[in-house]
Amino acid sequence: MLIEQPNILLKKIYPSALWRMNPEEKAIYLTFDDGPIPEVTPWVLDKLDQFGAKATFFMVGDNVRKHPDIFRMVVERGHGFGNHTMHHIKFFDRNSLRYMDDVREADKVFIDNLPHSPLNIDHLLLTIEQPSKGQSSIVNGQSPMVNGQSSIVNGQCRLFRPPHGFMNHYQYKKLQWAGYKIVMWDLVTRDYSNKLTPPQVLSNVLRYTRNGSIITFHDSLKSWNGGNLQYALSHALWFLKEEGYQFKLL
Ligand SMILES: [Zn+2]
Repeated sequence: MLIEQPNILLKKIYPSALWRMNPEEKAIYLTFDDGPIPEVTPWVLDKLDQFGAKATFFMVGDNVRKHPDIFRMVVERGHGFGNHTMHHIKFFDRNSLRYMDDVREADKVFIDNLPHSPLNIDHLLLTIEQPSKGQSSIVNGQSPMVNGQSSIVNGQCRLFRPPHGFMNHYQYKKLQWAGYKIVMWDLVTRDYSNKLTPPQVLSNVLRYTRNGSIITFHDSLKSWNGGNLQYALSHALWFLKEEGYQFKLL
């Protein structure tokens, strides 16, 4: 409980961050951090397809640079994505200006590697508002539009999640001023932990999921190598679908 769910203090430190969506709605918001990783991310995409689920991927810019084809696969299959910095930096690794540089660098890698033609660049730089269609769509076969929202708005990612779930106050403010929507979570599955067995990770999900939960998995080798992700995600999708939850995009 202390680890899986965010504590109240953390919520007070980042009051404008997104922790949970509408508690009245029977919907959950799956997120995957730290990809794209060739051994893991395509499997996650297939699994999500099996259940007709969409998710939001908080990607590391350097992984997108190394695996642009997997990045494009995520976008083309109708999922959303957000910025998770270029090098998965900790807030204390660099001063705040360098932190923002790292965030910006990741944005540039995302934009450079989108499945778009040069003609669509202008389109990506505009704020896009379209009525929600309830499903993802790729405009002109190019731009990453999901639920009428683009993952890229005004030349930067719309969504940001800080590595390790922490930013200092100045970084938090800078990100806000720059227009990023900061996304935290309602539940961390701890799929990355080698101290947890796959059934324990699953039970974290089933125990703490509630209406509007933003749920954090990791499409990383840490989650994959012990089998936590494969077991917990497969079963969670099945159980949560059975319980009537919709899987929505942020
Ligand atoms: Zn991370």
